[in-house]
Amino acid sequence: MDGTASVYALLADGTTVLIRAPVAGDFDAIKAMHEAMSPANTYLRFFSMSRTAAEREARRLTREPGRDHAALLALVGGDIVGTAGYEVAKDEATGEPRDFAEIAFAVADSMHHRGIATLLLEHLVSLARAQGLGYFVAETLSENTPMIRVFSDAGLPVRSSRAGGVITITIPLPPADTSSELDAYLDTVARRERKASVASLRPVFEPESVVVIGAGRRHASVGRSVVDNMLKGGFRGRLYAVNPNARQISGVPSFPDVEQLPEVPDLAVVAVPPPAVVGVAQSCGAAGVRGLVVLTAGMDIAQSADLLAVCRGHGMRLIGPNCFGIAVPATGLDAAFSATTPLAGVAGLVMQSGGLGFALVDQLSRLGIGISSFASVGNKLDVSSNDMLMWWEQDGVTRVAVLYIESFGNPRKFARTARRVSARMPVLTVHAGRTEAGQQAAASHTRAAATPFVTREALFEQAGIIATPGYGELVEATALLATQPIPGGRTIAIVSNVGGAGVLAADACHEEGLVVHHPRGPRARALQALLPEGSAVDGPVDTTATISREEFCRVLEHLAADDHVDAMIAIVLPTAPAPDIVAGISAAAVAKPLAAVVLNQPQAVRLLPGQNETAPSSSPPAGSTGVPSGAGPVPAYIYPEAAVRALGRAVRHGEWRARSQGEMPRFPDIEGREAAFAGTMAPIAEARALVRAFLARTPGGGWLSHAERHALLRAYGIPVAPIVSACTEDQAAHAAAAIFAGQVGGTGVAAAEKDASKAPVSGGSGGPLPRASTVLKAEVPGLVHKSEAGAVLVDLRTEADVREGYRTLAARFGPDLAGVGVQPMITGGTEVMVGVADDQMFGPLVIFGLGGIATEVLADHSARLAPLTADDAQALIDSIRSAPLLHGHRGAPAADLGALRDVLMRVSRLADDIPEISELDLNPVIARPDGAIAVDARIRVVPQEPTDPFLRRLRLSLRMVVILSLGEGNPL
Ligand code: ADP
Ligand code: MG
Repeated sequence: MDGTASVYALLADGTTVLIRAPVAGDFDAIKAMHEAMSPANTYLRFFSMSRTAAEREARRLTREPGRDHAALLALVGGDIVGTAGYEVAKDEATGEPRDFAEIAFAVADSMHHRGIATLLLEHLVSLARAQGLGYFVAETLSENTPMIRVFSDAGLPVRSSRAGGVITITIPLPPADTSSELDAYLDTVARRERKASVASLRPVFEPESVVVIGAGRRHASVGRSVVDNMLKGGFRGRLYAVNPNARQISGVPSFPDVEQLPEVPDLAVVAVPPPAVVGVAQSCGAAGVRGLVVLTAGMDIAQSADLLAVCRGHGMRLIGPNCFGIAVPATGLDAAFSATTPLAGVAGLVMQSGGLGFALVDQLSRLGIGISSFASVGNKLDVSSNDMLMWWEQDGVTRVAVLYIESFGNPRKFARTARRVSARMPVLTVHAGRTEAGQQAAASHTRAAATPFVTREALFEQAGIIATPGYGELVEATALLATQPIPGGRTIAIVSNVGGAGVLAADACHEEGLVVHHPRGPRARALQALLPEGSAVDGPVDTTATISREEFCRVLEHLAADDHVDAMIAIVLPTAPAPDIVAGISAAAVAKPLAAVVLNQPQAVRLLPGQNETAPSSSPPAGSTGVPSGAGPVPAYIYPEAAVRALGRAVRHGEWRARSQGEMPRFPDIEGREAAFAGTMAPIAEARALVRAFLARTPGGGWLSHAERHALLRAYGIPVAPIVSACTEDQAAHAAAAIFAGQVGGTGVAAAEKDASKAPVSGGSGGPLPRASTVLKAEVPGLVHKSEAGAVLVDLRTEADVREGYRTLAARFGPDLAGVGVQPMITGGTEVMVGVADDQMFGPLVIFGLGGIATEVLADHSARLAPLTADDAQALIDSIRSAPLLHGHRGAPAADLGALRDVLMRVSRLADDIPEISELDLNPVIARPDGAIAVDARIRVVPQEPTDPFLRRLRLSLRMVVILSLGEGNPL
């Protein structure tokens, strides 16, 4: 944040606060805030009751900005409620600035215990880190426990010492982008952010009073439908309407404007014409309303920006505009204009607009799963799916989250939130991105390349989100995931009283990558004993049509008790011997995930009532293994394939959960612990500085130069073959001579990595080596695909070859030739490619595939979301068709997979650390038995909106509003 920027953030209690640097004009207000502080508060702040302190403090805080001090103000509703500042300490002898600063805070009496000092501290930390300070020192009276707690809870390893009544607290700042201290701090900030966000949503989703503004007397009007739905839903709180022309609407007391309401409502639902919205929002804010749901469609960009500004200024959370409302059926809050009343239940649902979203509400209600809360977020100027995920994570009711929306907002944040929430409850969505390749191509030609590498579905799966290609499958999967535990493995027991259907299910299992259980040995014999004559137990269990309801039930229980079985499918058709066989499924006491198929049911999916006939909302929580499903409802599908598909998704989700526990790799060399000892800049800071410098010169972004690429890759420990630029034939010959002489190795990776400028090294790791050879690459500005243009000459073994090669390139490119790169030739490996592409929904992807010329011809690629664990990296390597080449095909030596994984993880880390990297392409990386080394690299960087993960902030930028308004059209 520079001197003029200001950001909004949420306090622990959900209040919106503005944080900004003071300006000269703030002098009087700062002085007034300090003067208004109680004597006790003043004493704690200044250790004295001095009357002049307020004025001195106001002067100090409003000084011109400088490197040796910083100050911040916190404002709520335009009033200054807190101040903070630091002063960099000076060496007593020399007057030189030291690497620490003294900090001090003051918070208005009425605003204590709301986290203002904590938030100001976070912002000071951010400012101080940018200035390269090492730590803060704060002096506090020992009785000032709230202030001491602010420091001790900051998430930083503080130390304190006491002298007399004063405690001196030392707060080390998280060092430049390192290590575990940083993670701990970020976790603390993220936890506070979550808590604040949830608190701010409480008046929206748990309001005690609601006003509907713009409720017309006509039944068809939007506002009127909301009033009627609130009545129909049986809202437990107090309800008002605002309408200048009515005393009551549907019996609900109506007032001419918000000011005249008998109380300040928590939530206002706004359905007035676009030009009136901002004024209404203003009066709601002034009255103290805490949340707005704006149904109004058709607001233009300026109106939208004003609306958001008003909401921020008054600390109101905003849903919409252009939305269909919200509902929390359990409390009767039905502030939406759907035709039906949703059932209270366990599914959280966020949707962009109404339409199919409402249809989904109906489906989930019909099934009996019901809704914990839903929000149609419309243009999502403020509340988005991220907020809803955070809400459901803590509401104690939601067991499955369904995101029925087109776009997810900030990709990195979304991916992080989704991963965290998915570990606790299934998160489902429809991937509406099948035409996205086209959309992306329009936005950015090069980025479109990312899409073919991997399906949207696979990306969702990696983020832990269960994505279905269609609406029907979404409902089918939700029915299973909301009622059944997550399977612990892939083995599925199939039981059916219609043999043919069991076979179909088995086929579907194979296609889903599931394994059909084959009972063996004593278990098979025991099973046979439970079954009628003629039954088959090898593979899908065919009970024959003669089985009774009780026998069927016992067979299910028997199979569920088998440790080899991870989940079960029971397929039935009612028969004369067992007309009520469906009830046999409900009655089974089964502790494994169970899906039923009832071949003659009319619905695609329904829930069979549980053993104890309870509604799903009171059954034990799904989402953990070992929960008996026998007590709760069981999803029943009309077709075997549908049941198998739903189970397949649950199985893969379980595998994701198991995998997602994987540890993120640590790279001390990148993180800078080594640099810290050597007193040099951490590589990560060096890399950031390099990218910043490039963008300062090239504000629009572009491709990094050869030298910049090498510096960046080397900072991240990614091996690249050195390349020396030559501008004449003699220079080229000279550079090649160093390679021939073995000073720059040309065969092994270790040797090749040695820089030409370093001391000569011996020939390598024993054994006869092939003779070193060189590669010449024409450096032609703007040329992207060098070999296609004849710009790469490989395997030049003598000085004469090199000289001739130089002349060839000079003749071929004439005046376009800026120089010739001379590189050692790396032989004896497999060419692979490692890349990064920035996905609009999920952030950076790491791409891996067969490289070199084969890249385009064979299109053998795969991609995974960054950051990668070692397991992810291995899975990525194994996922390409040509993987056997790397494992040592037909007696060829295997590539060094450890080195390859290392390259992938380091590239992933680079992409994750430096969001400006929009594309990175190492092609080829030569994967040899003794390592992996890149011989060609391209890196494109583009400017990013400055974001500091250390700062909690709400978004407020007109640019954002423009993007949202233009990008998503009108969902109504
Ligand atoms: P471009 O991708 O622009 O065509 P590259 O630098 O990737 O240019 O070179 C093209 C091909 O030449 C590579 O795929 C690889 O087969 C070969 N090649 C290039 N440099 C080397 C090298 N240093 N060692 C071995 N082979 C190389
Ligand atoms: Mg290449």
